[in-house]
Amino acid sequence: MIPGARFIILGRQGAGKGTQCVRLSRHYVVPHISTGDMLRVAVRERTELGLAAREIMDAGGLVGDDIMIGIVDERLRRDDARSRGYILDGFPRTVKQAEALFDITEGLKKPLDVVIDLDVPRELVLQRLSARRVCRDCGTNYVASGRERQPWICDVCGGDVTQRDDDTPEAINKRLDLYEEQTSPLIEFYGEADRLTVVDGVGTPDQVFNKLTLAVGASQKK
Ligand SMILES: [Zn+2]
Repeated sequence: MIPGARFIILGRQGAGKGTQCVRLSRHYVVPHISTGDMLRVAVRERTELGLAAREIMDAGGLVGDDIMIGIVDERLRRDDARSRGYILDGFPRTVKQAEALFDITEGLKKPLDVVIDLDVPRELVLQRLSARRVCRDCGTNYVASGRERQPWICDVCGGDVTQRDDDTPEAINKRLDLYEEQTSPLIEFYGEADRLTVVDGVGTPDQVFNKLTLAVGASQKK
């Protein structure tokens, strides 16, 4: 049986993190802990946390460090994460969160194996995101070739497949800038802690998956 793993995955939007996290989570039999997904679920289910987060997001703000750290702390204490490990996606976003995560993992006596930076050049993710189309009903992602009629019909559910309003080049560039700004201090933080591995995210999903598992494996032999 494959041993579990504990790692963080960083990467620009459009780098293919979502697809790879699904595969990695199955491969290592660990939960994919996406703070973005957890927040969306909390908002949908109108939990106390969800309501608080909703208020902040509606006001255009980012959910603060303390809330995010609390969510992750609670999640990492559950049995599945304690016994097998986890893939953390979307957390940490700030150095304060990274420091808190260090304390949490130390407290559990289960240090991180590695922090992976899934690197895809900015121009390439810009192209990918511009070609992205999404089913309005079920959320399935598609890639437009430019020859389709708009909107087209979703293969999965028959809904309308369209471009998201926030997938204009301006909006995408703004998100990528924000990511750069947020992440560069983290890259520095984990680089100094000798925990960072950059994985080239250009290639087929199979090729990238192989590179990722090699990187995790190498970190566990250290
Ligand atoms: Zn659909």
